[in-house]
Amino acid sequence: MKLILLGAPGAGKGTQAEKIIDKYKIPQISTGDILRENVKNQTELGLKAKEYMEKGELVPDDVIIGIIKDRLAKDDCRNGYILDGFPRTIPQAEALTEALKPDKIDKVIFINVSDDVVIERLSLRRVCKNCGAIYHMKYNPPKEEGVCDKCGGEVYQRDDDKEETIKNRLKVYREQTEPLVKYYSDSGLLVEIDGTKSVDEIANDIDSVLSKIGGN
Ligand code: AMP
Repeated sequence: MKLILLGAPGAGKGTQAEKIIDKYKIPQISTGDILRENVKNQTELGLKAKEYMEKGELVPDDVIIGIIKDRLAKDDCRNGYILDGFPRTIPQAEALTEALKPDKIDKVIFINVSDDVVIERLSLRRVCKNCGAIYHMKYNPPKEEGVCDKCGGEVYQRDDDKEETIKNRLKVYREQTEPLVKYYSDSGLLVEIDGTKSVDEIANDIDSVLSKIGGN
């Protein structure tokens, strides 16, 4: 099963991907996570990506497309995957369509939320530096402040989850990523999910879409 999770930053893509990978045993491929790992390790890619990420801008398409092609060629992608945070532009989507030929993505799950919800979610979002677990300071805080329930790692606020950067990320999303809703709707792959519901309700809605796809 090959899936794309599409939606604004803070729509809940990462949270829902965590649930889908548990159930369907396919890897989550998050270009944001791959980039953050490279920034942390100060690789050449990380040094290049950092300046864009700090401002909430998109990393150039050619860099991202290269990363994804390498990742999709790995063994664990044979039975499918969930793309989280990719594609984010029309050229990225076109490159993916080309790279997969004659194969295709099975479904694009579009998690729809308003800007107000995004701002509330992102400004209170915290993540584990070690395992990537996602928390929300109001709805789902870690039991002990600053410590991950799952692995004991440090729970922190991403630099780009600070208010000034959130606003720019939303602007970039509306301008560059939202056109993908039409792109995938035109190709008959898009399913829209109401992202303002609770985490469990959204997971149920996604599950009923995926159960109809079945198999790999
Ligand atoms: P995310 O964790 O998905 O919110 O991504 C964090 C940041 O990484 C984004 O704000 C971009 O700067 C960069 N990034 C992640 N995925 C992509 C992508 N597909 N295209 C361009 N930039 C990306």
